[in-house]
Parts: sequence; C-alpha cells; structure tokens
Amino acid sequence: MRAELEFHGAAQTVTGSMHLLHLNGQSFAMDCGLFQGHRQEARDRNTSFPMPPEKLSGVLLSHAHIDHSGNIPGLVRHGFSGPVYATPATCDLCDVMLADSAHIQEEDARFWNEKRASRRSDYILPLYTVKDARASAKYFHAVAYDQVARFSEHATATFLEAGHILGSAMVLVELRRPDPVRLLYTGDFGRFHMPILRDPAEPLPPVDYLITESTYADRRHAEADDMQQRLVEIIDQTRSVGGKVIIPSFSVGRTQNLVYYLARAIAAGQLEKLPIYVDSPLSVNATEIFQKHPECYDEEARKFYKQEGDIFGDHVATYITRVEDSKALNHSDRPCVVIASAGMCEAGRILHHLKNNIENESNTVVIVGFMAQHTLGRRIVERREELKIFGRMYKLLCRVEVLNGFSAHADSADFARAFAPLAPKLRGAFCVHGEGTQPAAMRDILLKLGCPNVHIPAPGERYPLD
Ligand SMILES: [Zn+2]
Repeated sequence: MRAELEFHGAAQTVTGSMHLLHLNGQSFAMDCGLFQGHRQEARDRNTSFPMPPEKLSGVLLSHAHIDHSGNIPGLVRHGFSGPVYATPATCDLCDVMLADSAHIQEEDARFWNEKRASRRSDYILPLYTVKDARASAKYFHAVAYDQVARFSEHATATFLEAGHILGSAMVLVELRRPDPVRLLYTGDFGRFHMPILRDPAEPLPPVDYLITESTYADRRHAEADDMQQRLVEIIDQTRSVGGKVIIPSFSVGRTQNLVYYLARAIAAGQLEKLPIYVDSPLSVNATEIFQKHPECYDEEARKFYKQEGDIFGDHVATYITRVEDSKALNHSDRPCVVIASAGMCEAGRILHHLKNNIENESNTVVIVGFMAQHTLGRRIVERREELKIFGRMYKLLCRVEVLNGFSAHADSADFARAFAPLAPKLRGAFCVHGEGTQPAAMRDILLKLGCPNVHIPAPGERYPLD
C-alpha cells in the first residue's frame, strides 16, 4: 500500500492547518482550517484547495479552533460530502463556531460590497455562508476519545486527549499493512496542569512518524496556577479605587478558564463576590457546550463541579446575549469584571467596553492572550498614549496589566516531556504550525531527544510513509 503525507496549510506558518494523508488513491485531510490574514491573501488561500474537495474521502479533525476547522464549510461549499471525524465535544463546538465564522464571512462580504467595491464587478461573495456551515454539520461523525475508528479499509484513527481546548485531540493513525505504520498528529498540543481540562495523554504511544505543532517550542510559560492569584490581586486593587476590570478574551476556552478561576477564588474565600459579566453571544453558546461535556474535565474540575454544582453557572457570572443588556453595562458605575470578545480587540463588543472605560484612571484592562501585530490589542499591550476605536481617538489612561500564563499551547518543557519516550524510535518527524524560528526550535528539541530525521515541510511538499 502506498502512503504519503502532503503538507498544505500551517506549513511554516501558524494558520490554515491542513495536512493530507494519501492512501492508495484515497486522500484524507488532517484538519481543514481557515487561513487568517489580510483579506485578499486569505481569500486566495482559503479558496485554493490542494485537490478538488469532492475527491477528498474524509477529514480527521483535531479540534474546533477556527484555524483548524474553519474551512470545512468551504470544503462543503465546493463539493465535499464528508465524513468529518472528531470527538463529541469538538462536533458540538464546531456547530456554534462554524456558524459564527460563517456569519463573520457574510458580514465581511456585505461590508466590502457596500463600502469598498466601487463597481458591481468588484463585488465579492462570502467565503461561505451560514447555510454552508449548517450543511457541514450533517457530515460530522463523533468518535469518543480512545475509541478506534476505521476511516478507510487501510487505516484506523484514535483520538487521544490533547489538553488544549475542550474536545481537543491528537490523532493516532494506524496504517494496516503487513508491517503496520503508526503516525501521530498532535493538532495543537496543550499543557499539563491547565484549568478545567485533562492533561495531554501520557505516555504517548510509540509511533513511526510524528507531525507536531511548534507554536511555543522556543519559549517557557509562567505557571498557570499563578494566574488565579494575579487576577484576584488586580481585581482587588481596581475595586479599591472604584474601578472596573475589562478583559478582552477569546470566546471559547479562555473565557471559560477565566470564569472558572474567578469561581474557584470566590469559593475559596480569596475573592469577595462582585458582578462578573460575560458579554459575548458565542461565549454563552460555548459555555453551554462546556457544561454539556463534563467527561472532558480533569479531576480538580470534577471535584469542584460536585461541590459547587455548575462551574460556569449563574451564581458566578451573568451571561449577556442581548445588545441592550450589553449597552446597559456602560451606565453602571459599580466595580465589576467584564469579559468580552474578540480576543485581540479587532471587533465585537469589547470595543464598546474599551471605548467607554480606557479614559478612566480607576479602571484596568487585563490582557490574557497573545495579541498579533497591527491589532488594537497589541497597541494596548504597548501602552500607546492614544487608541483609535470606531474612527475616534481615545486616551489610554486606565491601568494595563498583561498576564502571560494563559497560553493553551505547550512550551519547550512540555514538548520535551511528552516526546522524550517517542523521539529515539521515530523514523521521521515534521514540525508544522510555527513561524519564524519556532519550527527550528521544535526540530532542535527532537534532535536533542534522539530523533535524527526532522523536517520543516514547505507547502506542497510530499513525503512517503515507508
Ligand atoms: Zn487550537
């Protein structure tokens, strides 16, 4: 049997994950992420598939983040008809996240056509629509963690806990032939001792080939446990001067971690109760899915769930969906915590909260995520004197605190711990999902652990699996 890997997205970059497995004339994608970047480049890359979508036999999906799942509706729009294998929690998260992404695509096309296109011939169509996202849902096929799924007559796949977001998995592929070959694709590799989620599966099974992400292979993170304490300190200081705490946050994962930390701190008597608002419709939907999947929780979260009931419940936070309720927050002067999306402050309700609060010295903006270059979030991290929001300049007079311990990606120590037992026996390893020096840092880790054959594939490169 001929087996070959082909790299397409997230090769020497961190977005648009898609790797192909060709097996005796059939082809399967591992992930099908949306490439996120400048509009034209993103459109070009998201509409150029490595093969006609109708010829693709299936997708093995590691997790629901849009840079891994977000182009599945695009595939369906262009003729793909499934199946998509994923864990049950990933299937549920994709349901809401792909619809949300489709809505953004539709809005983006509408904005362009109304505001930018000078002629009708410049009009663009959305990459995909809410209808396409809904159509994709029927191709999802849930496979529980550690269950063996036969996705081809030649191969099986097993999802192992990745500890990155709810439902996230590493994909173990076993090629059935007289001399079996095993391949592990990490998807996004999470961290040990993260809140809510179980640790990444350990020890990893011995495999012949490894495809690993390398986002933070070049750094060490602060301990996640410190984050709860730092949050409590910041909230107490801000409350003591009568201010509000504003936290821009991604709707899925980070927001639930924040609510869990605050719920734990309140339950432990470390933090005096105060109003906590989660202001994002997607966060509300995602939180419902977190509540539906306690099988993904770690021991600590299960214990807390037993003692306190729902760990994201109404007794901890007020979840806001209606625009009127979101606006009403601006009229209150009481100290409170507002968690709102989008994570990098480029869109969403967070913009209103920033606009209304950054000119008040008593308030604090807490940055809990990576802020890409050229985003409003990055300008806040850089503490620019003035910020442009909705076309108007505002003075940045409030406090800004940056907490770096929240990353959901493994760091160099996590990778070394996970791969130490595997590396000496690997026949080949491929470092993806990294840019700049990150894939090379991952290669160094694997070389040091005893894997001699490490590649940093470029888009379009193919490698046989012998
Ligand atoms: Zn991810």
